[in-house]
Amino acid sequence: MARCYNFCAGPATLPQAVLETARDELVDYQNSGMSIMESSHRGKQYAAVHEEAEANIRELMGVSDDYAVLFLQGGASTQFAYIPINLLGEGQTADYTNSGAWAAKAIKEAKLIGNVNIAADCGAEIPTRVPSQEELQLTDGGAYLHITSNETISGAQWKTYPTVDAPLVADMSSDILSRPVDVNQFGLIYAGLQKNLGPSGAALVIIRKELAERVPASTPSMFKYATHIAQGSMFNTPPCFSIYILNLVTRWIKAQGAQTIFDQNVSKAATLYGAIDADDFYSGTAVTDCRSDMNVTWRLPSEALEAEFIKQAEAQGFKGLKGHRSVGGIRASIYNAFPAEGVDALVAFMKDFGLKNG
Ligand SMILES: *Cc1c(COP(=O)(O)O)cnc(C)c1O
Repeated sequence: MARCYNFCAGPATLPQAVLETARDELVDYQNSGMSIMESSHRGKQYAAVHEEAEANIRELMGVSDDYAVLFLQGGASTQFAYIPINLLGEGQTADYTNSGAWAAKAIKEAKLIGNVNIAADCGAEIPTRVPSQEELQLTDGGAYLHITSNETISGAQWKTYPTVDAPLVADMSSDILSRPVDVNQFGLIYAGLQKNLGPSGAALVIIRKELAERVPASTPSMFKYATHIAQGSMFNTPPCFSIYILNLVTRWIKAQGAQTIFDQNVSKAATLYGAIDADDFYSGTAVTDCRSDMNVTWRLPSEALEAEFIKQAEAQGFKGLKGHRSVGGIRASIYNAFPAEGVDALVAFMKDFGLKNG
């Protein structure tokens, strides 16, 4: 069986070792005579998985007891609503930066709930980028500032997070655990699992516990962070299998060493940007200072050449390189689990394609 080089933005490539363990354990989980998928979420076997996943996230990200670590359903998009429902009190204003498609979606949902101030807007700019600290026009006494740590579609990433008085809320869906982060700088961090952590449909939320107390009492239980904090993400049946895979991914990160993975991410991205910059045939679509280490985006001289590039790449086993339908071009998503050899192989293909078509 040959595994392709999967550059998909999400769901995205997972470590092969994780998939193999899941396969080996799928039918009979640790001599229980059943799959972990079939196992009671209140039982000992699943409880151990759930607790280890939380402990590993706490260890890998240095999460203190002031924060809750939650596994919630509905992916990252559900968090676009949860956040204002829980943190944006009546009469208050929340600040949002618009850096692109994902930020815009978060803003759209927040506006349905309460007052939103756009603290900086570079969402439509090409080359793409994220705002600078100096640009931010913050609300006095704002409820929080929301940023999108990494714009998965356009390939722009915050390299230094802004320092603000209000709680900082970050959508880290596409760069969580890809680099060192000081959790204490944030009020809330959230991420859909399907880019760097596991399967789709669930989200990891790290929230400073006191922020969960802001929620209006009339909010339905399922939509309150406070409910999930009180119940350890077991208010209802959690996405058990997704959390099981997340646990395997966190074990894999620990086994590699988080710092090793962070270093590899920088080096994989540098290799790919190096190839883009080395050849006039290719042009990167993000401002150099904001280039994402996770989603590398670039263009070729014409859409016809881009289509040809994608076609030939596919034939050689490089899958998922087509840019998002809203922006076109090429996008290579090179998350934690994407192997360095795959980047090297793509770079060799790019050199060859550039020579033949440039
Ligand atoms: C993928 C992604 C989302 C959406 O995640 P879902 O789990 O599909 O809701 C949100 N924000 C960012 C930055 C993403 O990359």
